[in-house]
Amino acid sequence: MQDSRFDAIVIGTGQAGPGLAARLAGVGQKVAIIERKLFGGTCVNTGCIPTKTMIASAYAARMARRAADFGVSVAGAVTVDMRAVKARKDAVSGKSRAGVEGWLKHLENCTVYEGHARFESSNVVAVGDAKLVAPRIFINVGGRAVIPEMPGLDQVPYLTNSSMMEVDFLPRHLVIVGGSYIGLEFAQMFRRFGSEVTVIEMGPRLIGHEDEDISACIKEILEAEGIQIRLKAECVAVSKRGDEIVASAECEEGAPEVAGSHLLMAVGRRPNTSDLGLENAGVQTDERGYITVDDQLQTSTPGIWALGDCNGKGGFTHTSYNDFEIVAANLLDNDPRRVSDRIKAYALYIDPPLGRVGMTEAEVRASERNALLATRPMTKVGRAVEKGESLGFMKIMVDAETDQILGAAILGLNGDEVIHSILDVMYTKAPYTVIQRAVHIHPTVSELVPTMLADLKPLR
Ligand SMILES: Cc1cc2nc3c(=O)[nH]c(=O)nc-3n(C[C@H](O)[C@H](O)[C@H](O)COP(=O)(O)OP(=O)(O)OC[C@H]3O[C@@H](n4cnc5c(N)ncnc54)[C@H](O)[C@@H]3O)c2cc1C
Repeated sequence: MQDSRFDAIVIGTGQAGPGLAARLAGVGQKVAIIERKLFGGTCVNTGCIPTKTMIASAYAARMARRAADFGVSVAGAVTVDMRAVKARKDAVSGKSRAGVEGWLKHLENCTVYEGHARFESSNVVAVGDAKLVAPRIFINVGGRAVIPEMPGLDQVPYLTNSSMMEVDFLPRHLVIVGGSYIGLEFAQMFRRFGSEVTVIEMGPRLIGHEDEDISACIKEILEAEGIQIRLKAECVAVSKRGDEIVASAECEEGAPEVAGSHLLMAVGRRPNTSDLGLENAGVQTDERGYITVDDQLQTSTPGIWALGDCNGKGGFTHTSYNDFEIVAANLLDNDPRRVSDRIKAYALYIDPPLGRVGMTEAEVRASERNALLATRPMTKVGRAVEKGESLGFMKIMVDAETDQILGAAILGLNGDEVIHSILDVMYTKAPYTVIQRAVHIHPTVSELVPTMLADLKPLR
């Protein structure tokens, strides 16, 4: 049995761990980093990178089918070679994974361990036969798909975001349980590849924590492409009938059951914390298993930090990476950065995408502050009209007393990029008039943000 002493142990090679290991090793600390499966974690292997690569294939198929709208003819029917789609995805994702693995394995002062890490005490972590000891331990173990206790689910084959990565064929009819980010991205992607797709959502609307107008517009966009959407689906149960999977539900609209060829479960994520031996280290979790941390990401045990999806403070690649920056700044740069400095920002990668920052309109209303609102349909954005991609709308909320921007949503062409011009002004805490008076480049989607701001009205 090896007993190895380090200055720091990092568990997991997701979006926070590798950067932190490199920073610590770079200042001469002796670092161990442990990975039990695929280097790079969720984003690189089963999350952002592969899905966005596949979404690019789906977009190409969509535009090829729409070619005639642009005066371009494509001879014959547009078909999608799913093996080629998967091969392209594997190449992009695999290059990224190899990059992380190679980087860590060649990092001076850093030892890579491959295996499952488990706390034996607050400063000892076991990996296989090795026992690693360090005064500082950083947990970056991420999360995985929630598999709910749904009647019949143990009797039928089903897919998750991870096993979807192995799909190199076209499902005849993909039934997706869950109408939030992951479910909707797969729904539109597979519809564009050529599958029939049904989304079953238990709540009264898609992506229930967004504003109602956003949910409604997304539903309209997806339904226009032929995706079936079943809302308020209570008591969902699944069973097998011949070679079909049948999902039955009490829904407000539509037949009481949907029979499909494949089932994807996309009802949320849970942290990888139940098999870490956290109890041996005195590290507390909340009722859903997320590790409890303070504003600088320290856990209930001194000397142990938790970063990324496992602390429940973000749930995105950029928030996990920012967790690394916060911990590194506090430990190495004498810079007291905090999670509460962060402004909520994320995107939903359907097409057109949704870019979101700060508060929703519902949150602004609930705060009962004196606020202003402006909206603009994408049909009034020249760049979107020119490109024939004018679905969606944008909106922005401003505090009427401070003139600071409270939140915004851009559901439309390049919404994931354009939203950053608003986000950056929010970080400066400058009044909205700064962006309203800025001269943006024509023709872009961004140029209509100042125009929209000129149209602010009291939020009633
Ligand atoms: C389908 C999908 C699409 C997504 N798209 C986006 C997107 O477009 N944009 C975005 O910002 N976010 C997206 N996300 C979320 C994003 O992938 C995660 O937020 C991100 O990966 C951050 O994860 P992390 O750093 O917390 O850990 P992870 O990336 O999950 O990595 C954790 C690592 O720890 C390892 N590990 C776990 N337990 C142990 C153990 N006991 N011992 C050793 N190793 C262990 C795991 O094997 C894994 O490699 C998506 C997620 C999914 C599922």
